Parts: sequence; C-alpha cells; structure tokens
Amino acid sequence: MWAWWNRQVLQPLAAWKNGSRHLRYLKELERRQWDSPEVIAARQWSAVQKQLHFAYEHVPYYRRRWRELGIHPSDIRQPGDLQQLPVLTKAEIRRHGAELCAEGRDRQRWRIKRTSGSTGVPLTIWIDEEAVQWKTACTLRSDQWSGWRLGERVAKVWGNPEYRQQGWRGWLRNSLLERAYYLDTLGMDRQRMREFIRQLHRKPPGLLFGHAHSLYLLADMMRREGWYGVRPNGIIATAMILHRWQRRVIEEVFGVAVTDRYGCEEVSLIACECEEHRGLHLNADSVYTEVVDLRPTGQDGEAAGRLLVTDLCNRAMPLIRYQIGDVVVPSSRRCPCGRGLPLIERVEGREADYVVTPQGQLISGISLTENFALHIPGAAQVQIIQESLHALRIRLVPDAEFGGPSRQKIAALVEKLFGPQVQHEVELVEQIPQEASGKYRFCISRVWGELAAEAPAA
Ligand SMILES: [Zn+2]
Repeated sequence: MWAWWNRQVLQPLAAWKNGSRHLRYLKELERRQWDSPEVIAARQWSAVQKQLHFAYEHVPYYRRRWRELGIHPSDIRQPGDLQQLPVLTKAEIRRHGAELCAEGRDRQRWRIKRTSGSTGVPLTIWIDEEAVQWKTACTLRSDQWSGWRLGERVAKVWGNPEYRQQGWRGWLRNSLLERAYYLDTLGMDRQRMREFIRQLHRKPPGLLFGHAHSLYLLADMMRREGWYGVRPNGIIATAMILHRWQRRVIEEVFGVAVTDRYGCEEVSLIACECEEHRGLHLNADSVYTEVVDLRPTGQDGEAAGRLLVTDLCNRAMPLIRYQIGDVVVPSSRRCPCGRGLPLIERVEGREADYVVTPQGQLISGISLTENFALHIPGAAQVQIIQESLHALRIRLVPDAEFGGPSRQKIAALVEKLFGPQVQHEVELVEQIPQEASGKYRFCISRVWGELAAEAPAA
C-alpha cells in the first residue's frame, strides 16, 4: 500500500517540485529496452556522433588534441573509425580537468562527482543536470530488473549514508521518499550487523542493496547464526566484483537471485544483469563501450580486454574513450529475455587487480586469491599485494588449521605461478582491511596499476 502511494503520488510530486524529468525518462527507457538490437545500435551510434561533434565544438581539450592529430568528428563514420581518437586516461583527466569542461554552458546547474580513487588516482568530474536526470532514470530501469519496484522499502549495506548529513530535511526525504535504512559499512561490527538483521525482520525490504562483499559478510553471519526468513523482492550487488562463492551464500540465505550491477561515479550505470542472470546488459542509452587489447582468459575461447567508455549524455565534461581501469569479457550473445540491449559476459576485475609476472604474463587477481584460499590449509581469507615486479605480500586471515604446512604450500604456489625470482612475505592479520570507501579488495597490484595510470594516450 505504502509502496503504491510512494510510486504513484510522492515520487511524481517530488520530481515535479524539483523540476526533474527522470520519471518521464524512465517511461521512455522502459519502452526502448524492447527495441531490436539494430534499432538500439543505430540510436546509440547517432548519439556517439552527436557527442563527438559537441566535444569538438565546445571542449577545448578535444579540439586541441584532435586537431594535433588531424582528425575531425566527421571523419568518424563507423564504429571502427573510433580507434583514430586517443584514449582518455585517468592521468589525462587529472592533468587537464579544466580544459575538459565545456565552454559557454550554464555551470550553475552542474554537479560535482569525486571518485574515491580506488585505483590510486582521485578524480573530479562535472555532470550537467539533464544528464543526472537521464542517468537516474537509466539506473531505476535496471534496478527494477531485480524484482524490486520503485516505491518499495530499501535496505542498504553501504558506507556513509548521505541523508544523515542533510539534517531534518534529509531525514524527512529519506523516510518518505527513499525509504532506505542502512548498515553503515564503515562501521560494521557484530552488534551493528545483528541490529540490522533484526530491522530486516521487522521492516522487510523490497530491495536489499550493497557492496558485493559486504552483502556476503552479512549473509554469511546470518547463515552461521540461523537468521533465515528474510525474503526481499530483489537483491542488487554493486561497486565491486561479485564472486560466484559470494553469490551462492547470499542466494542461499535470502532465497532470491542476486542482480549484479556495474557502474562507476564518473559515468554512473554501465551494465546490469536482467532477471535471466546470464551476462550484463550494457546501458546503451547512456554509454558507448569498446573492449580493447583482448587477451584469452583460458576459458573456452573467451577473451577479456580493457574497457573504454564514451559517455553519451554528459555535456558538462564529456568523457570520450575513457579508460576506466576495468577488464571485461565482451559478448555477442542475445539475451533470452528479449531486450535488445547488448551484453557483456562479466566484469573480470580492475586492471589493478591483475598481477604481472616477471615474464610479462597477466594473472587475474580473482582466480589467484581463490586459488590461494582453496589450496592453503588454514586460510580463511587472503589478500595478495604485488609491491613490485619481484615482491608479493600475502595477507592472510588464519584459522586454527594454519601452520608450517600452510607456509610451505604458499612458497610452492608462489614459485609455481611466478617463478623462483619472486620473493614473498606472509602477513597474518585478524581481518582484511577495507578501503576508505568501505569496499574490500582481494588483490592489489602496484605494478600494473602504475602502468595503467601512466600509459601514454594511444
Ligand atoms: Zn536479458
């Protein structure tokens, strides 16, 4: 009942009061998702061309760079032509932030986004109001693929709830409109987790939303302590890689499929699973993506590569061929759900989550940490940090089984995977520390991360 009132009355009223068109956009986007792949691709390509022309006319950085290279947007006639344009790195954005902002626009209505800099390169991005509204609608569309409907209560496992910094207005807005309650991931201890679980029982949420690993920690505790019986309509895991073993535990405890959602502060939603949970639909209405430098993953003919994103709607600071720092597995499959939006198979990880061997091979941090955790007796959790090309630090949460044989196994694994030149150090810890953002990372390579940040623009 409350959900219906919220969706039909309060949400439209608040949108009208704030002059936001996102609910109107949502209707349009819900219709568009069923268009054929050809219609969607044509519309997306036309948006790319518009953005390129806009950038050339209004953004000093692109005009200068493309002129130096002798390229004009009208030379870019088909997707393959995009390779002529340089890649935009995080380092470039840091160096040329002001020059990347559009001239002659009303800056009063721009919003600022600051990324937490989990790759070690903090960024400031400007987004115009129109784009914010469009992106909000795109996110709402895919959030509802999870089974949740706008207006239903939301339980969030998330760091730093924003409304708490906005006084009584924030409180009112949250309790009437957003209907969210939080487990703050910057202070997750057993007592707070139990309070949150009791709240889940008392006020059943329509949606459970959070960082993949924090949701896993919550579900794991509920499983161990026998807190079953909470059944949200949908669960969305985001902001970090959702591992298969995490998904299994979350789904077992809540009895609902987990929807994996992928995006970032700079461009918002990039891709999201639908109710089929086989790959992620790209948000073709707001971004154009390319996957470059493909390398085999070792799984039946699959390849993974660096993701480049072109933002199709932000005119304040257009990001074109932005190297976001993630590695994904592209797909040419069509989804059985019938939506025409293209797919990617999965997000493999951050470029910084790959380890580089002295022989120049890349090893995915996910499979690496999973391997270590599975094969080392007494390892409850593992984090691998590549300090330099020849030095690894292995952070490990030991359980009762940990001992001499565990250390021998670690030494054998390091030698087998990296060769005898690589040194390692085992650091026993009580827990794997979180990042400042509240996220966990299982593998951090200072080597590959530096290479990515400093890579020359094409
Ligand atoms: Zn689908």
